Amino acid sequence: MSETATDTEALAISTEVLIVGAGPAGLLLAAELRLAGVDTIVIERHARRPDFCRGFNLNARALDLLARRGLADRFVSEGWQVPNAPVSGLPVTFHLAGTHTDHPFTLGIPQTRVEEVLEAHAVSLGADIRRGHELRALHQVDQSVSATIATDAGEYRVRAAYLAGCDGGRSTVRKLAGIDFPGTAATRHTLLGDVELTDPAALPFGATDGPGGTVFAIPRPGYVRIITADQDPPADKDTPVPLSLLQNAVDTALGRHVELRAARWLTRFGDAARQAAEYVRGRIVLAGDAAHIHPPAGAIGVNVALDDAFNLGWKLAATVRGTAPTGLLASYHTERHAAGARVLANTRAQVLLAQADSQLRPLVDLLTRVAKHPAGNRAFVETVTGLDTRYDMLPDADHPWLGRLCPNLALATDTGATDLATFLTPGRALLLDLAEGSGISESARGWEDRVDVVRATCPEHPELRAVLVRPDGHIAWLQTTVHDHTDGIRQALERWFGPALQTAGLPAG
Ligand SMILES: Cc1cc2nc3c(=O)[nH]c(=O)nc-3n(C[C@H](O)[C@H](O)[C@H](O)COP(=O)(O)OP(=O)(O)OC[C@H]3O[C@@H](n4cnc5c(N)ncnc54)[C@H](O)[C@@H]3O)c2cc1C
Repeated sequence: MSETATDTEALAISTEVLIVGAGPAGLLLAAELRLAGVDTIVIERHARRPDFCRGFNLNARALDLLARRGLADRFVSEGWQVPNAPVSGLPVTFHLAGTHTDHPFTLGIPQTRVEEVLEAHAVSLGADIRRGHELRALHQVDQSVSATIATDAGEYRVRAAYLAGCDGGRSTVRKLAGIDFPGTAATRHTLLGDVELTDPAALPFGATDGPGGTVFAIPRPGYVRIITADQDPPADKDTPVPLSLLQNAVDTALGRHVELRAARWLTRFGDAARQAAEYVRGRIVLAGDAAHIHPPAGAIGVNVALDDAFNLGWKLAATVRGTAPTGLLASYHTERHAAGARVLANTRAQVLLAQADSQLRPLVDLLTRVAKHPAGNRAFVETVTGLDTRYDMLPDADHPWLGRLCPNLALATDTGATDLATFLTPGRALLLDLAEGSGISESARGWEDRVDVVRATCPEHPELRAVLVRPDGHIAWLQTTVHDHTDGIRQALERWFGPALQTAGLPAG
């Protein structure tokens, strides 16, 4: 018997959010949604996580964000700390000491391990993660999105209030949703091989220049990652890379034979830079590589994917719950599209600097001098790592912290010493009332269901009277001087969390 469309929809599994892709973006988004109590299914086409590992770091910004959910220490305890940021293109060491971060280092840790921890976290919060399930089709129906999913056992449908495409650079979601992906095509391709060297002494770690090019050798646990230019890439960039091709490229670049063996992963990647024109289209949202691809300079992809998920999670949860003010979900596009555009520009700049021909030499020399100056060094680092991320907030307080990630303030409360991150762990907004008797807490009456109000003191920053922190840790409003705060705080609360519950007419207290 043939099914009508209505029958098929009636048979579909229902969920509030369907996430496509269990990479860093999808897994963290799932955890953020579950923190807010949103029903979440994640589908991942691979039955198992691949044997190879792409990324190997969490940067200072990502660690600061993860710390707002109590997750950073778990990674820090396993990884290795490098006090610099991986910026390419200039002969300068980029120091993280003295920058705006609680984690002044780059953490070496395999992306696969980051995903394992995030997956366990999401599952512990109740996310339904389905491996070996691939998105094949989607369409928006009435107030929902319907997705067709293929498994070895056949196809099924999921009907979701929202669908999040966290499915990587070649995103099926982005394509099926018809979202444009403008940018620049790859002009250069690079070969990558995770291999062993028959003679480990034959090639030092780092960059080795030869008569035909440069070969990078990066130490990895039990193997070496070899990277060198792909001088003659095939028209179909998905053509498998045999070890002989990489061997030949290495020998040609160095002008001598350095034997490679025991390949674990061989691939090629390009320097295309593209960004989705819309991060939100109706009930479909994009995050991570699905929303932006860029050259690998600066090792930032995992970190930006996590940043997107942090920004999106609470906004999507409030939208699903029906408590979001107008424009909240759209602000995900506004804030993260701008941040993504900076990542594309920064990574492209690093590639250009690394390839600069003699005509651009004066530019490289100038930037090198700037980057060697302590203030220039710091500005470079904060820009390329995203530590300088600042979102537009209502301009009633002119403070350098407004819109930025709130530092992890040390706080004293009636119950003892604590810090800001501890209060953000549940993923809710926070109003810190740091001026006893100011009446700031009372101004938030009507938002208690969405905003936690904490009375505390902050001995390190006695000038702070109140701070409103969004669930993603960014400061939406703050006050340092004694003046009437009522309009400012209520405007900020309404802008980010919707109108106050109707308490008018009820007796106070
Ligand atoms: C060689 C290399 C080295 C890198 N090194 C670094 C580094 O050192 N540091 C860093 O920060 N970044 C690095 N990156 C970038 C980083 O790996 C990516 O930016 C990051 O994985 C993006 O995360 P994501 O969650 O957006 O997408 P992905 O990790 O790509 O996850 C997308 C998931 O969606 C799944 N999927 C796709 N289509 C479907 C479908 N139709 N149905 C169901 N599931 C689907 C995929 O199987 C995949 O698991 C590197 C990348 C490469 C290629």
